[in-house]
Amino acid sequence: MNLQENLIKYARLLLKVGLGIKEGDNLILRLDENGLPLARELSRQAYTMGVHNVHLAFGDDEITLARFQNAPEAAFDSYPAFMADFSEGAYNNNYHLLALNAPNPELLKEVDPKRISRWQKTSAKATEHLMKYTMENRVKWCVAALPSPAWARSVFPDLDDDAAMEKLWGYIFQATRVDQEDPVAAWEEHQQSLVKRQNFLNAQQFDRLLYKAPGTDLVVHLPKGHLWIGGASTMQGRGDTFMPNIPTEEIFSMPHAYKVDGTLASTKTLSTRGRLIEGMTFVFKDGKVVDFDATQGKDILQDLLDTDEGARRLGEVALVSDDSPISKTGLLFKNTLYDENASCHFALGKAYGENHERGNEMTAEEKKEAGMNESMIHVDFMVGGPELSVIGVKQDGTKVAILEQGNWVI
Ligand code: ZN
Ligand code: ZN
Repeated sequence: MNLQENLIKYARLLLKVGLGIKEGDNLILRLDENGLPLARELSRQAYTMGVHNVHLAFGDDEITLARFQNAPEAAFDSYPAFMADFSEGAYNNNYHLLALNAPNPELLKEVDPKRISRWQKTSAKATEHLMKYTMENRVKWCVAALPSPAWARSVFPDLDDDAAMEKLWGYIFQATRVDQEDPVAAWEEHQQSLVKRQNFLNAQQFDRLLYKAPGTDLVVHLPKGHLWIGGASTMQGRGDTFMPNIPTEEIFSMPHAYKVDGTLASTKTLSTRGRLIEGMTFVFKDGKVVDFDATQGKDILQDLLDTDEGARRLGEVALVSDDSPISKTGLLFKNTLYDENASCHFALGKAYGENHERGNEMTAEEKKEAGMNESMIHVDFMVGGPELSVIGVKQDGTKVAILEQGNWVI
């Protein structure tokens, strides 16, 4: 494998398909030290495509960790408003976001969970008004992965840093179709197959979905006017298309925030807030989590659920075939972007406006009435696997099998 050659192809894919870059656009590039070679290549290509300015939003794991370990308590109770203003100013000035995600899944393992939760609440509150820019597609945005030695080591604990990084890049190029002759063309083809299933599900307008798997027996109602979406999104007002996640294999919609009942067992480790949560189980009644457990990280899950009212309700239902290219690697990536695209999943918290016919126009009151969930969080967790079946039930009671033994049957 030629890393440099593939980086060039990866950069082109992220700009062309991920962000749908147009002349005159600007870029916010979120990255860390591992992203510099890719960021330089992205910038070369972006300016050639007519981008006016690339702004780097640089982060560093060691510095983040230093803050959680050493900063005074008061540091976790205030978020400088001017930093949120900066992002808002950028979004209002034709800046679009490319987030290169290089997580160390266990960065905050040793940190007092109370500090993590205090900071999550403080920053979520201070940036809540920014969520609409991405969640309502007022800007183009794309989240893509970037390997880091810590991440690579946690996926391949038996290899040294260099070998682990090379192996992880290999899987990333495979899952993002960068290893194919023309990745941009491969994504156009992939988009067509997602649209085909999306159209099928939208035409059915199911009243509810039935989930069955070991530990799972769940009825999920869908609001009237819900929309299934897969692959590309459309920027509000301008109509540019972009791909919010690379890779993406899911077709997702909006569950009814007040009409979910039964039991649900997660099937993969969830990596969130620098911690791992394992073996999650939930009991839902009238859309709300009324009981839950986890074999590891239950304190983090508790915090997540206690964020606000909507954190105990679902805001996304996503279908992914168990034979997706990412799933076929058989790897647990410990990175939600990858693991959620290998598995059917739900999200706790805020729903996407584009998953409802009028999702971006309704008032708060109307959203509630429609069953659209509101929250400061949106956290995906995986429930898919080879034993999952999903059946759609129409208003008149007709049943249609959607997934059997984890795979599409539509
Ligand atoms: Zn999703
Ligand atoms: Zn999600």
